[in-house]
Amino acid sequence: MPLYFVTEKEWCAFLADLSRAAALYYPEPSGDDYQLTRAGEGMVPGAPFSRYRMVQSFKPLLFEPRVKVGDYFAPAEELPRMQNPQAVIGVKGCDLKALVVLDFVFTGEVADPFYARNRERTIIISSDCTAFKETCFCTCVGGKPFPEKGFDLNASPVEGGYVIHVGSPRGQGLVERHRDLFAPATEDLLRQVVKDRERLTAQLDEQQRMRGYLWGGKTKELMERVYESNVWEEEAARCVECGACNFVCPTCHCFLLSDHGRETFRRMRNWDSCQYKGFARVGGGANPRPELYQRLRNRYEKKLHFGPVVMGVNGCTGCGRCVEACIGKIDLREVLKKLSGCR
Ligand code: SF4
Ligand code: SF4
Repeated sequence: MPLYFVTEKEWCAFLADLSRAAALYYPEPSGDDYQLTRAGEGMVPGAPFSRYRMVQSFKPLLFEPRVKVGDYFAPAEELPRMQNPQAVIGVKGCDLKALVVLDFVFTGEVADPFYARNRERTIIISSDCTAFKETCFCTCVGGKPFPEKGFDLNASPVEGGYVIHVGSPRGQGLVERHRDLFAPATEDLLRQVVKDRERLTAQLDEQQRMRGYLWGGKTKELMERVYESNVWEEEAARCVECGACNFVCPTCHCFLLSDHGRETFRRMRNWDSCQYKGFARVGGGANPRPELYQRLRNRYEKKLHFGPVVMGVNGCTGCGRCVEACIGKIDLREVLKKLSGCR
């Protein structure tokens, strides 16, 4: 993978230029957090870098919350094409892991044309974490606080600028178009990147160890022995079925199709939540998961068992967004801790 060095000033010039060619989304500081924000053309405020993941993932740029998928069974080729390029910067390792799940679901044997088009038009510029939130736990589910793959370009902050890893031919093309801005990265800079990554990973591991989150990434094995646990009912007692855990989750991908209109029939696709009572209900009213604890358990099983077994990847990336969003204060880490017998 080619490696370059770019100064902070040159990186801003590169992004400003990119924002003229593509709709550019960046992490806008907001208190201690970062909000995914669209930049104006040619305008990139400061050096847009986030220390850790944004409040929201960039999932809605690929898998929209609500989209018209058809007029009276219009074939896919007649549906409107969305070709304008978009670029998102500041994507972290956890959200790139989530992309593996979304790609598995939407670009498999039967590809979803909406997702596929959005995926094709999206340039991904990721960056290393330089700190973590109280809710971050990527290392507990097999992740790392830095991107490993799935990006076009990745920026690792170093003294005076960034080491840029190229992750795809498209990323290499971007560098080639701005060749005057990028210099080869020196060995010293690469050593600094490795050192910074190791230090942050160790700090994150230490946070998890101190809190007793000790299942060591073996969530699949854990889920195989806790189906009958009463923890599910204890935890579900605080769930109010708001669906926030699903909507903030970068890997959740379930949707509901709804038909509208008579004269001008249209079919909409909307995000759905597996915590809603009607989620799995079928014609005739039969419901395989009528109880809330069954739905909560199913969400965990889908992510932590089905994910590794069927998709070959954990369905939870440890981003911690559901922990922050849950009004019932259901903390996935604490649930797993209880389930693993570490009360
Ligand atoms: S389940 Fe929670 S912590 Fe895991 S990826 Fe989804 S939002 Fe993030
Ligand atoms: S965010 Fe919490 S309260 Fe809302 S549906 Fe999810 S588990 Fe239930």
